[in-house]
Amino acid sequence: MSLSIKGHDYVRSDREFTDISRPLIFWNITYRCNLKCIHCYINAIQGLSRDELTTEEVLRVVDDAHELRTPLLIISGGEPLIREDITEVMKRASDYGIKVSLSTNGTLITRDWALKLKELNVQYVGISIDSPVPEIHDKIRGGVQGAWDLAIRGGIKNVMEVGIPVGIRTTVTKLNIDHAPEVVELAHRLGISRVAFYHLVPSGRGGRGGIINLLPSPEQLLRFLVRLIDTARKYPDVEVLTVDNPADGGVVASLLASSDEGEFMGKLRLVSRMGACSAGRKVMSIYPPNGDVYPCQFFNDKPMGNVRRERLTEIWLRPRVNTELVIRLRERNYGDSPCMRCPYLRYCGGCRVRAEVLNGDVWSMDPLCTMNSLLRLWRLGEVDLRPWQVRVMREFEESLGINGN
Ligand code: SF4
Ligand code: SF4
Repeated sequence: MSLSIKGHDYVRSDREFTDISRPLIFWNITYRCNLKCIHCYINAIQGLSRDELTTEEVLRVVDDAHELRTPLLIISGGEPLIREDITEVMKRASDYGIKVSLSTNGTLITRDWALKLKELNVQYVGISIDSPVPEIHDKIRGGVQGAWDLAIRGGIKNVMEVGIPVGIRTTVTKLNIDHAPEVVELAHRLGISRVAFYHLVPSGRGGRGGIINLLPSPEQLLRFLVRLIDTARKYPDVEVLTVDNPADGGVVASLLASSDEGEFMGKLRLVSRMGACSAGRKVMSIYPPNGDVYPCQFFNDKPMGNVRRERLTEIWLRPRVNTELVIRLRERNYGDSPCMRCPYLRYCGGCRVRAEVLNGDVWSMDPLCTMNSLLRLWRLGEVDLRPWQVRVMREFEESLGINGN
């Protein structure tokens, strides 16, 4: 789901310890939230919970995750710290040796909360910052004034002070795409070593009938990547990732490979270990209201099962609903999709959710395929490519039969 574009090649192990027998779990553990972000894919609400899993049920899910040998539980929401039993869940997971990572808006993390997270052995805290400009962040976060201050001067500061690794998460929309380099600069200034830019996947409040028109264009996304590579080179102390646009892997490998096709292929091999769509293959997602399990966080209308009725292991190994979808995701069998003819299929796969929402066909080509954008901008003369990169582009174009359109 993500790709490091740090200025040098390296491999992080956390991408490698997940596979089909040890999936990573994204767990949206509550619907409740104190903010109202306009791009929220889970349609989080303020106030009372709607039929959330009980404490007994969530603890059983952790037992099941242990049985499934999941290496990493990424706990998210809503705002996960709102759940009264969240520390019990984290403790049980840590006791089993499951790594726990927290994805939060950061506004509720007091010094005491930070110390508690440290005590619970939370390994990483990702805090959402949508813009280096407080007013833009607060607007995206649902017009909640002071949200930026609370996240930066509260959450991030407190987590850093207790020594838990912290990273910034930024969802890329038309409202903030031009500020991406400043987000990396902000991280550098604050001493934060990681920024993950999440491409907008249209689902939840950010989807059908929602803010689909905040999706940047494919060309904007390509220009964003080019600027991000320059920025990442300028701040080598900050690890920069993009998430949920699997085509970024091939594009970044191509733009980073300074010398020749051999270097490009070497970087692509790294991408194959870390990038590509992992939905239903290396990751699964559990949603809060009734415990539905999905192939990924954004596939939220195609459940594989439900933890109230089945064990997690059963759902993962023998999904009884949407079985064909899961098998095809695992086998990368997209029928007659152009992606099947793409030389980068095994490094990418495109985002299936975006393909479904924007094209009406889950197996079609990702409409925000940045490899295709690179081809188009090169055709328009906006990007200079070396002869070997031109060869790579022509091969891509001919394989798909798309003529740069
Ligand atoms: S055509 Fe499909 S598989 Fe190829 S780079 Fe684009 S989205 Fe990925
Ligand atoms: S379907 Fe899209 S959102 Fe889901 S894992 Fe694949 S790339 Fe990410």
